Amino acid sequence: MAIHDEICRSIDRFKDRAIGLGRQIHAHPELKFEERFAAGLLTGAIGEIGVEVERGVAGLETAFRAEAGKSGPTVAILAEYDALPNGHSCGHNLICTAALAAFAGLAAVRGQLPGRVVILGTPAEEGGGGKIIMLEKGALEGVDVAMMAHPVDGEFATFPTLATRHLRLTFHGHASHAAAAPWAGASALAAVIQTFQSVDAARLHFRDGSRIHGIITNGGQAVNIIPEKAACEFLCRAHTSGYAREIADRVVRCAEAAAAATGTRLAHEVLGGYKNMINNLAMAHRYASHCETLGVKAPDAPPEMPTGSTDMGDVSHAFPAIHPIFRIADPGAGNCHEERFEKHTDTPRAYEAMIRVAKAMALTAYDLLADPALLESARHEFAARQES
Ligand SMILES: [Zn+2]
Repeated sequence: MAIHDEICRSIDRFKDRAIGLGRQIHAHPELKFEERFAAGLLTGAIGEIGVEVERGVAGLETAFRAEAGKSGPTVAILAEYDALPNGHSCGHNLICTAALAAFAGLAAVRGQLPGRVVILGTPAEEGGGGKIIMLEKGALEGVDVAMMAHPVDGEFATFPTLATRHLRLTFHGHASHAAAAPWAGASALAAVIQTFQSVDAARLHFRDGSRIHGIITNGGQAVNIIPEKAACEFLCRAHTSGYAREIADRVVRCAEAAAAATGTRLAHEVLGGYKNMINNLAMAHRYASHCETLGVKAPDAPPEMPTGSTDMGDVSHAFPAIHPIFRIADPGAGNCHEERFEKHTDTPRAYEAMIRVAKAMALTAYDLLADPALLESARHEFAARQES
């Protein structure tokens, strides 16, 4: 199709700009909700292509939104740009530049788009749930379908992710001198340790694919004082939000038992959670067919593939959505979040892959606007999954 070629040529013309931005963002990692440098660069680049940008969307300083085209079906392309304490070890510098390049390619033909394409800058994927806040505040209203792509060491059109529930458990005990009067104290740290032991005893009984992992965030105040306060956090993950909640409830019961055994008081909070990803196969397979034309095979991910969690899961429960993953390093080169993966997210190979993915996303987005049968099958599949 001639317009497909035109979109790809526009992305090629934007390539050096996108790679330059990816390199700058990689060199300047910012934690969740603090992505001012990245959001500034990305919104500046959108302005340069002659599209107006709305900043501070949904009350989030580093969120943004821009659109091109005309009223009609609406495709959202989502950009993440937050980093981790060890830098861009999750490659979000490639996610945002792929989204931007795809948007630039479509904006270049905006007069010929039979609908609208929206780029959404979504902060704080790493634990802040920026997309959930944006969903709740209505920033995705009017969107029909949504997409984004994430770099890893493999290439798949679908990505099964786990739902999460994030718990904070705080124990309140009684302080006393640990040598002179231990009988007068009640150790909040003992309750934390006992909680971990009970959770470890319980984890055998959780369904396959479930994950529970925790850290101690407060282990006491001084070595010679019985800890008056101690706290820990657990992330409970499962294939569905319902089962993640069941696991979290069990963790809370372990903590309640530990509080009873140690004479301490428990306070627990749910700090948030992400839904599992529902991969829309109609969209994913169209994306895969464009990948193939561009020279790369992107099959469906095997269901047993090791995986994480993302707030794109919540988006996929609201609209038909895809979250393909793309290869920027050889298999086994390290996982996202590992320090050694960070260097793979700033290589010529990674940026070539990012541009190719931008094209596959842009062509898929165009098809969703131009081919009513494709959009209808994505919607139909989504509705069927919601009912089941
Ligand atoms: Zn990530």
